[in-house]
Amino acid sequence: MEIKKIGVIGAGTMGSGIAQVAATSNYEVILHDISQDIIDRALKTINKSLTKLIEKGKIEGNKEEIMKRIITTTDLNALKEADFIIEAVFEDFEVKKAVFKEIDSMVSEDVIITTNTSSISITKLASQTKRPDKFMGMHFMNPVPLMQLVELIRGMATSDETFNTVKSLAEKMGKVPVEANDFPGFISNRILMPMINEAIYALMEGVGSVEAIDTVMKLGMNHPMGPLALADLIGLDVCLHIMEVLYEGFKDPKYRPCPLLRKMVDAGYLGRKTGKGFYDYNK
Ligand code: NAD
Repeated sequence: MEIKKIGVIGAGTMGSGIAQVAATSNYEVILHDISQDIIDRALKTINKSLTKLIEKGKIEGNKEEIMKRIITTTDLNALKEADFIIEAVFEDFEVKKAVFKEIDSMVSEDVIITTNTSSISITKLASQTKRPDKFMGMHFMNPVPLMQLVELIRGMATSDETFNTVKSLAEKMGKVPVEANDFPGFISNRILMPMINEAIYALMEGVGSVEAIDTVMKLGMNHPMGPLALADLIGLDVCLHIMEVLYEGFKDPKYRPCPLLRKMVDAGYLGRKTGKGFYDYNK
């Protein structure tokens, strides 16, 4: 089945970026969220991002035409017409389960359903639908319009045909797909989060200051930003949640979340989004 119309569920940080990239790649998009305010915010963000990318010559095309390809809705029924689904709602199994039950009973049986989850088992999510062979993980990176990578994760039942279709779609969206197996954290967070967690241990144990730890990783390892600054950007609550998923999934103490990370989340110091994390953003 030729994919023309992509349904994106969730218009938050990731969903809006995915909708933007799909529309830029000439797909028609139906962008759904439960909140009209969030949809309005998503359209503003997309408009602003397209203006910048076109100005800098990073993408070709006419902004109005790209925007016109994005239809928005608060009614999930409007996604009946989609011939490919990308889910990007809250990282919460129960919320995703409810969405998958509904969408599975709604779209044609040929339609592939994908999830942008960062940490929930693809196999477990696939089994909430009656089409686990046509279900898989399509893990975009934030910010979607700028990051090249998409991790592709098969569930236990994902067919080769589904995998190949999703791989080809990711390429048509200008991304570089990399296959990962369905283990907690896949490849990206399995490696990134323990590094961030270790940087927080190094801080807690007084091995170095915030600035020293980030400078070592930037100037010594050529990372574009230090792990503590990156944790602030991702959100310390998100980092803690992913460490808990790794710890729970592997039952290996090497994934135990650092007590300082937990303490900062308890204090409400979640990073950039609250104005304070390892750095102070209110200064
Ligand atoms: P977000 O909170 O910015 O957006 C989630 C959106 O889902 C919200 O707009 C919310 O209104 C909407 N939503 C909630 N329930 C819904 C429902 N039943 N139907 C439709 N919409 C619903 O979150 P996000 O950062 O965009 O994350 C979305 C997904 O992407 C998560 O699974 C997350 O793990 C994953 N992810 C996030 C990042 C990141 O850096 N933010 C990176 C990769 C993957």
